[in-house]
Amino acid sequence: MTIAGVAILVLFAMSIFRGFTSRVAADAAPVPADPTALAVAATAAAAAQAGLTQTPPADVAATPDLSGSLATGLPYDEYFLTQGLHGESYGHLAIDIAAGNGATIRSIINGTVTATGYDQWGNTYIQIENDVYIVLYLHGAYSLVAGDAVTAGQPIGTESNIGYTLDMAGNLCAGRDCGYHTHLNVFDKRLGINIDPLSLIPAAYP
Ligand SMILES: [Zn+2]
Repeated sequence: MTIAGVAILVLFAMSIFRGFTSRVAADAAPVPADPTALAVAATAAAAAQAGLTQTPPADVAATPDLSGSLATGLPYDEYFLTQGLHGESYGHLAIDIAAGNGATIRSIINGTVTATGYDQWGNTYIQIENDVYIVLYLHGAYSLVAGDAVTAGQPIGTESNIGYTLDMAGNLCAGRDCGYHTHLNVFDKRLGINIDPLSLIPAAYP
């Protein structure tokens, strides 16, 4: 082999080696040459980590106080349970209670009136809501409007038979003097389901 040939071979080998080292250098992370910059970066990282381990502000960490939402009152001064749990088949588990035509109906929770009016079957209704419960009353003559604040035990209307109410024989009471009662439904937001209203108020029987 000539000298020129050897030189070409050496140059060729060197170019391969240079290519290899430059690839390695490109893949490796650049190392900061400035020790001051390194120290600043380390201090900033330490401060950020210290911030992560700090206790969150008290108002975020505190468990919400639900006592006001869990307080209950009676739906009437005196009343009777006229029908136990029913309505589950149409997604509206409820009880029926009655105290007589014109009796004062009271809120069983502290909350806000979130809706009132007529439902699709012609029943009057009022819905009272707080952080835990949504309480729905049907068939009464309700005196509050959406947005009104309510306390447990506060009068919200009077008993009637408006809408789909039946007499003892199962005939509609619309326009007749029968079927007076309150259909009472309670939804528990924590559980995401309708619950037995008798878990909030006492049962009373005729
Ligand atoms: Zn009912």
